[in-house]
Amino acid sequence: MSDEFLSQCAQRIGARHVLTGDDMAGYLTDWRRRFTGRARAVLRPGSTKEVAMLVQLCVAHRVPIVPQGGNTGLVLGSVPDDSGHAVVLSLSRLHRVREVDAINNTLTAEAGCTLHQVQQAAEAHGRLFPLSLASEGSCSIGGNLATNAGGTAVLRYGNARELTLGLEVVTAQGDVWHGLRGLRKDNTGYDLRDLFIGSEGSLGIITAAVLKLFALPAARATALFALASVSDALNLLSLARTRCDANLTGFELMSDFCLQLVERHFSTQRLPFAQRYPQYVLMELSTTEPEAHAIAQLEAVASRAIETSIAHDVIMATSLSQSKALWGLREHISEAQASEGKNIKHDVALPISAIQNFIVDADAELQHAFPGCRMVTFGHLGDGNLHYNVSAPAGQDDESFLTQQEAINRIVHDRVHHYGGSISAEHGIGALKRQEILRYKTETEMAMMIAIKRALDPLNLMNPGKVV
Ligand SMILES: Cc1cc2nc3c(=O)[nH]c(=O)nc-3n(C[C@H](O)[C@H](O)[C@H](O)COP(=O)(O)OP(=O)(O)OC[C@H]3O[C@@H](n4cnc5c(N)ncnc54)[C@H](O)[C@@H]3O)c2cc1C
Repeated sequence: MSDEFLSQCAQRIGARHVLTGDDMAGYLTDWRRRFTGRARAVLRPGSTKEVAMLVQLCVAHRVPIVPQGGNTGLVLGSVPDDSGHAVVLSLSRLHRVREVDAINNTLTAEAGCTLHQVQQAAEAHGRLFPLSLASEGSCSIGGNLATNAGGTAVLRYGNARELTLGLEVVTAQGDVWHGLRGLRKDNTGYDLRDLFIGSEGSLGIITAAVLKLFALPAARATALFALASVSDALNLLSLARTRCDANLTGFELMSDFCLQLVERHFSTQRLPFAQRYPQYVLMELSTTEPEAHAIAQLEAVASRAIETSIAHDVIMATSLSQSKALWGLREHISEAQASEGKNIKHDVALPISAIQNFIVDADAELQHAFPGCRMVTFGHLGDGNLHYNVSAPAGQDDESFLTQQEAINRIVHDRVHHYGGSISAEHGIGALKRQEILRYKTETEMAMMIAIKRALDPLNLMNPGKVV
C-alpha cells in the first residue's frame, strides 16, 4: 500500500482487513439508502487490542473514525461524511460470546456479535436476553448499546442501557477501559458506562459488554384488540397494567392505515377481523408460569375490555403460529410503508398521558398545513414511543412532498416539545438530527454535552459531525 497510514494499519491487522475502493461499498451507504459517504478505508480489527492499536494510529495521523456495527442505524450515524477523510472501523470481527455466568445471570459478548447471536447464546443456557428489534439478525450488540436501542420488550425489561452492567471501551486516545464488571451495585463515582451507552460512537469504541439475563418465559399469550380510538388504547394499557403487572411484555399501537398498507403490499398478511376499526393494539404477556396462566390473564383483560366498551373486538392467538401471524402485521409496517413510497419519519417519545392530545393536535396542524397528507402512526405505546410518520397525499409525488420536510418536522417536533417529549426516542441523533436537537435542548444541556465531548475526545476524531 502506497499510503503510509494504510500500510501501518495493514501491519497491525493484516492487509486483507484493510478495505479500499469498491470493497468498501457495503459500508458507506446507510440502511435506508438515503446517503452514501466516502472513506479512506474500512478497517476490520479482530480484537480489542487491534482496535486500540488502530485508534492510536488514527490519533497519530489525525484520521477521524466512524465506528460501525451492523449498519442498521436510522439516523446516518454509522456512515462517514462525503469528505473521504475518515476511516470506517467495523466491529464485525469481534463476534465472540466470551462468557455466560449462570449464577451471576450475565453474558459477556463482544461488540460485533449480532443481537440474534446474543439471544441464541442466552437461550442455549436456558436464559433470556430480552432486547428485541426487527433488525436483530443484522444489528450488533455494540451498535445496540451505542444507540441505547429500545424495541418491543422495553415495557417489561427496559432498553439497552438498563440491560447492561459493564463495558469494555477503547477510548479516543487508544487506551482500553476495562469496565467489564458484572455488578448490580457500584457507586464509585461518575458512571462511565452510562456515558458511553447512547453516545453513538462519538466518545469511544465499545468492544465488549456484560449483559443482564432473565428467566426464559415458559409461555406467551398474544392478542390483537380492535379499538375506536387512541384514547381507548390508553385505557386498555391501564387495564392491562392493573391486571397483568410485570407479565405485560408488549403493547404496540397500529392505526388502521398502517395495516391497510401492510395488506396492500404483502399478500400473505391479513387483518383477522370481519370489519375495520380505527386503531389496533397488539398485546403480549409472557410468564414463567404454565401457559394456562398467561391465557387466563389475557382472557380476563379481553373480557373486561369488551364489557366496558374499551375494545370492540379481540383475537387471541391460540398457537405459536397464530401469535407469529399477529406479530407479522406489526413487523411488516416499516417495509409496507417503504413500498408505498418515501415518507417523513419521526421517532418521538411522550409522557404516555400526553399521547392522545399530541396526536389530535399534530394531526390537525398537519392536515391544515398539508391537506390530504397521510399519517402512518404506530409504535411502542407502552413506552410512550410513537413512530409518527407522514406520507404524501394520494396522487402527489414523493419528491415534491419531501421538499416540505423541514416544515413538517417543525410542526411535529414543536408539538412533541410542547408536551414535554423527546424528538428521538430510540434511534439516536446521528448526523440527521444534530441541528434539530439544538432547538429543543437547553443551553445548559448542550454546554454539558459539548464539555463531555471535548474532555473525552479533544481532537474530535470519534465520529465527528454526529450527535454534537
Ligand atoms: C428494520 C429495522 C428495525 C429497527 N427497529 C428498531 C427498534 O425497534 N428499536 C431501536 O432502538 N432501533 C431500531 N432500529 C435501528 C437500529 O437497528 C438500531 O439502532 C441498532 O441498535 C443499531 O445497531 P447496529 O449494529 O446496526 O449499529 P450501526 O448502525 O452500525 O451504528 C449505529 C451507531 O452506533 C455507533 N456504533 C456502532 N457500533 C459501535 C461500537 N461498537 N462502539 C461505539 N459506537 C458504535 C455508530 O457509529 C453509529 O453512530 C431498527 C432498524 C431497522 C433497519
